[in-house]
Order: sequence, then structure tokens, then C-alpha cells
Amino acid sequence: MKKLWIGTSWKMNKDSDSAQAWASAVLPRIEKLHPQLQPFVIPPFPYISSVSSAFDASVMKVGAQNMCWQEEGAFTGEVSPLMVKDCGGSVVEMGHSERRAQFGETDETVNMKVHAALRHGLTPLVCVGDSGKEKRWGVSREAVIKQVKIALYEVPDHQIPQVIIAYEPIWAIGESGIPATPQEAESMHFAIRRALRELYGADLADAMTLLYGGSVNLDNASNLLDQPNIDGVFVGRTAWNASGYVQLLEIANSKFSS
Ligand code: PEP
Repeated sequence: MKKLWIGTSWKMNKDSDSAQAWASAVLPRIEKLHPQLQPFVIPPFPYISSVSSAFDASVMKVGAQNMCWQEEGAFTGEVSPLMVKDCGGSVVEMGHSERRAQFGETDETVNMKVHAALRHGLTPLVCVGDSGKEKRWGVSREAVIKQVKIALYEVPDHQIPQVIIAYEPIWAIGESGIPATPQEAESMHFAIRRALRELYGADLADAMTLLYGGSVNLDNASNLLDQPNIDGVFVGRTAWNASGYVQLLEIANSKFSS
């Protein structure tokens, strides 16, 4: 049965002490989770090693917030898939709207990174999202599906189950974000699933993990997780302190207790 993924990216926050403190506080709770829950954390690069050594990799997945599509060479400032693995990372986030807007990430580079991650057995976590303007213009679906299709260009059937898509509406992310309602999120997830079905057939598409991210908090997480096409949440601010993250895990865990 499909797992419910509950994860956070710390973005460019924390130092080594607070990274360790987060891991130590989360660790005891992680060991008692329902096996169908998949926790994950994506620290900044310098803390991937220490955070991944704090956890059993079979329980908590640790990832990187970006990655180069090349293995090695003259790519100053970049981090390769081999390095991510070497540090204990197994997931790679790519295409986050902040990277698209501020660091030149494009649909095409996301596609190259998807292939690089898959070549090295890493899980690509592809972020896609519509802007506020696209929402107002009524073209959100087209915008998001285009990002999904280019990200998955030439990804073969046998590799597709390893790819995770996170729908992160730009208008919902961060301090000024307004969270998507569970209905809005589900409607986009349904559209993404339908596009995936057209590309890969129902069985493979239905087996894929689709996460929602954008101002997920302790009040809206439960309803979001109840939506049929939402297979987990990808969380920023609410999960940066260990207690917020643990409470999100409790909410997700309660879905399996009845
Ligand atoms: C994000 O930036 O991807 C995100 C989900 O952040 P937040 O939960 O803080 O809106």
C-alpha cells in the first residue's frame, strides 16, 4: 500500500546545533510511527551528513534542496548526485519556485536533474506550482501540467514510480501565502493525476506520490491529508521546529489508528 509522506525542507535556515537539536527531538517519535508513514527532512547541504547519521535511513529519509545534473567536473558551487548520496541523502528536491524565480531553475534543468537523480537511485521530488497571476487568469492547470510534463520528459515507465511530485502553489507559500483549501489542492492533484494517467497509464500514475505544499499548518493538515489524490504534505515553517513537525506526524499517524 502507498505511503503517506510527511516532510519538510528547512530552506536556508538553522545552524549545526539547531539541526542536531531538531533531529534529537524528532528521533524518539519517529521510531513509533505507523509503517505506512514516510517521514523526510531536507536540510541545507552542510547539515545533510549530520542529520542523516542521526536517523535510521530505513525510517527517515534525508534529502538535498538542489543538485547538479552532472556527476563531477568544472561546475563551481554545485553539488553532484554522488555527493548527495555520499552524505546520506536519498531524496533531491528540485524546481522549487524560489529556485525558479531567484536562481534560474527552468523546466528543462529540472528534467535534467530528474534523469540524473534516477540514474543514481535518488528520489526526485519535483516541485511544481502556479503563480498568483496564473491563478487569476484561470490558467493554473495548464501552467502546472506543463511543468509536470517537461520535468518527466523521457522518463521511462520503469523509473516513474520513483518520482514524487509536490504541488506547491506560489500564492500559498511562505509568510504572505494563503493556503490552498483542501478542495483547491485536491482539484489540482486530480488534474496532475489525470495527466500522469495519460502519460503512463492508470496503474503507474495511481501508484505515484503527489504531495501538497504551501502554508500547511496544524489546522489544515488533517483535511489536506484526507483528500484522495494527496499522498502527503511538504511543509516549511510549521515543521521547522521539532514540535511542529512531530505534531504533523501525529496528525498523519492518526489516519491509521482507527
Ligand atoms: C515551501 O516553501 O515549499 C513551503 C511549503 O513553505 P511553507 O510551508 O512555509 O509555506
